[in-house]
Amino acid sequence: RKAFGEKAVKIPEVKWGDIGGLAAAKEDIMQTIMLPTEKPHLFKNGIAQRSGLLFYGPPGTGKTLLAKAIATECQMNFISVKGPELLNMYVGESEKNVREVFERARENLPCIVFFDELDSLAPARGKGADSSQVMDRIVAQLLTEIDGLGKKGGMFVIGATNRPDLLDSALLRTGRFDKMIYLGVAKTKEERINVIQAQTRHHKKDDNINYQEIVSSIPENFTGADFSALTSETYMIAVKERIEELECEIEAFKRETGMPEGDELLPETY
Ligand code: ATP
Repeated sequence: RKAFGEKAVKIPEVKWGDIGGLAAAKEDIMQTIMLPTEKPHLFKNGIAQRSGLLFYGPPGTGKTLLAKAIATECQMNFISVKGPELLNMYVGESEKNVREVFERARENLPCIVFFDELDSLAPARGKGADSSQVMDRIVAQLLTEIDGLGKKGGMFVIGATNRPDLLDSALLRTGRFDKMIYLGVAKTKEERINVIQAQTRHHKKDDNINYQEIVSSIPENFTGADFSALTSETYMIAVKERIEELECEIEAFKRETGMPEGDELLPETY
């Protein structure tokens, strides 16, 4: 079938609590997106609901994660498309790809469509190099689709970019990706601790971990993705060091709970 029809569309499993730091962005999203979605009856008196949101900031700062968490918390399906995936050398194919993404979303309402690397898809019209005509048509198609969203409801578009300055300004007009939210690295000690705690919240841990000491030895420009590499590596080392002890604990847990042979336990279960 179509290029984007092959991906299974479903509700993601990223919870709000999986995201550490980003307190201001989370608060902003709560008020502008989640509240109107969860309690639409409170927003009916002529207040237009948003249909688009733009996350911007350095790579690895949680743009995809946050978009998925919104979908999970609002119980909406999620379609993720990277800008360059839509580009096609054949005339008319790129716009068709954009149309197909939205068609797919309409078949799976309520749905969030996430456009990652939006800048690669939509550099300012007329300023691009050889492929500028293709870009122009893609942007035009995107605008048509987004403009059609407002009244119908049930669909929400989130864009992500590291370079908001490259985006066509038409995309940032009211009713499109008009709400911009910056996601950056966690700056304060509390935020950095919060990121580690969110990423390890399902791990079995010592009660007296000195988080203050840990974060003070971590470089200041560490992104959420860097923290993720660190926490998973630490987890792997801890598991390897205690592998026999852990296996005994798991076996004991299985015996106590009468779990069938061959069933696997998730680390957070026991
Ligand atoms: P890119 O611009 O490269 O697409 P991104 O901003 O979309 O990056 P994500 O893909 O959301 O970044 O983050 C990568 C990984 O880093 C996530 O899967 C998650 O494990 C971790 N991560 C990033 N930010 C956070 C955060 N604020 N809290 C917890 N984990 C985070």
